[in-house]
Amino acid sequence: MGHKLLEVKDLMVDYRTDLETIHAVNGVGFGLDQGETLGLVGETGAGKTTTALAIMRLLPERTGRIVQGDILLNGASVIEGTEKALQRLRGETMAMIFQTPMTSLNPIVSIGNQIAESILLHNTQGRSEGEIQQRVDEVLNMVGIPPARKKEFPHQFSGGMRQRVVIAIALACEPDLLIADEPTTALDVTIQAQVLLKIRDLRDRLGTALIMITHDLGIVAQTCDNVAVMYAGELVETGTARDIFTSATHHPYTRGLFDSIPRLNQKVRRLRPIPGLMPDPTDLPIGCFFSPRCPQARPVCREERPPVFSSGSQRIKCHLFGDQEGFAQAGP
Ligand code: SF4
Repeated sequence: MGHKLLEVKDLMVDYRTDLETIHAVNGVGFGLDQGETLGLVGETGAGKTTTALAIMRLLPERTGRIVQGDILLNGASVIEGTEKALQRLRGETMAMIFQTPMTSLNPIVSIGNQIAESILLHNTQGRSEGEIQQRVDEVLNMVGIPPARKKEFPHQFSGGMRQRVVIAIALACEPDLLIADEPTTALDVTIQAQVLLKIRDLRDRLGTALIMITHDLGIVAQTCDNVAVMYAGELVETGTARDIFTSATHHPYTRGLFDSIPRLNQKVRRLRPIPGLMPDPTDLPIGCFFSPRCPQARPVCREERPPVFSSGSQRIKCHLFGDQEGFAQAGP
């Protein structure tokens, strides 16, 4: 049997300073096949971006540490790779789109040259200057920017167009895996829809696997095959998007996320917060990390870590499912 494109195994990531250790990711595991889209959902501070940065091996050098687990890309460990090998992987095999396009673009280099630089960095096919320019035009066309504008600078584009430039740079080398971290949060709703459509279209045309990090369950419903709900650095519920959106049973945190979806007539689609705060990542609770906020918490929840129970594609980390019909224990 072939490898999965991406396998994240029992990943733990800490940020360490002289004063404290922040446990940002606490045993996350999932896999992704070619062309598949995974929605990574949860509140700010849940560890979504840290997971993505660990996969890209872009954790801050001084503080970020992968303390446990492995990340396999096409069967090979990303954790063990040299910086040189990683540079080749980033761009060629995997690329990431960040939330704020202005910070990932160089303000004093034309957008055409920024895309060309990305192609040059991974010019394994030995493209000539003419061929590189041809490729720049191709990717600009792909994201719906007229190639005639390639000599312009980032400030001459609107927010939505700038995010398209970032996508063009990420896709210039046709990576197998694209991680989009809240790619549309900074954009207004109409532009959001256009950018999402573009990402979906490119995924379908190029067969790129996609990890979509978002707060927005609407985006997940429109875009993703599978969903992973993250809380305090762990996956509390995973499943196919179909199961997650049709199932009547959920982890109490996922239920809170669903309950917090604003009504259709509301303009802002960001989630309303669930009451309470995420636990202090330097001092996580002994039992279930959600227990201080969980309306269904039992005494056992404050004393013992919950196991994972599964039913069909759904996997839920919660004590309640020990006696839920149709669910069986699937992991520690
Ligand atoms: Fe709530 Fe207990 Fe389930 Fe945690 S394990 S989500 S506290 S019911």
